[in-house]
Amino acid sequence: MRRKLIAGNWKMNGSLAVNHTLLTGIKGELGKSACDVAVCVPAPYFAQCQAELTGTPIAWGGEDVSAHEVGAYTGEVSASMLLDFGCKYVIVGHSERRSYHGETDELVAQKTVRTLAADLTPIVCVGESLAERESGRTDAVVGRQIDAVLTVVDASNLVNIVIAYEPVWAIGTGKTATPQMAQDVHVMLRAKLAAKNPDAAANVQILYGGSMKPGNAKELLAMPDIDGGLIGGAALKASDFLAIVRAA
Ligand code: PEP
Repeated sequence: MRRKLIAGNWKMNGSLAVNHTLLTGIKGELGKSACDVAVCVPAPYFAQCQAELTGTPIAWGGEDVSAHEVGAYTGEVSASMLLDFGCKYVIVGHSERRSYHGETDELVAQKTVRTLAADLTPIVCVGESLAERESGRTDAVVGRQIDAVLTVVDASNLVNIVIAYEPVWAIGTGKTATPQMAQDVHVMLRAKLAAKNPDAAANVQILYGGSMKPGNAKELLAMPDIDGGLIGGAALKASDFLAIVRAA
């Protein structure tokens, strides 16, 4: 039985004061949660998360990481820097990185390898656009994105990744994939894992992301292959985030 993971993606939101209120709200009401809980935050706030979340069941992580280990890459943040601040997770290949920053499948795969090498857990995002879904190419596109990662990650290391299926048309739009739509893609992703490492297929958490909120979380999380959620907008309000954690 896989544990569920509810991970927030704060994107480029927050301030020291706003984060403090949000983290205090989540910590205060979390209680004993049966699932894994994490917040992925902008890099300047890693230290704040480390100070405020150490000793709690809430893990923290980044929203992106460099594909390089060290060196002349102005503005980039390396995996070892995330580790210095106690990060456990890092989101890799979010659709906003792919579309606004031109990240290719190959770059996302390299970032995944770099993340694993630093003993961090990558949350590898995959997902199709509306045009791709409407033209019946969902499996081909999502399959291609995950294949790029499966090709370069050592089969024995696949147990250490998390995958997030995030249909691009559902992110921040209020539109959600139906539970069955998401389940179908998750089954396809798990079959791809199984072809490389059956143990990974059984154990890797495959999250759904895309306008998950308190009102739809329960039915999505009830699907057998949906092992949690990557939460954008609803992660910015403690009561909404906690309601999703409870639904898991
Ligand atoms: C995301 O950014 O990963 C996401 C799922 O956003 P939202 O929940 O706002 O759709």
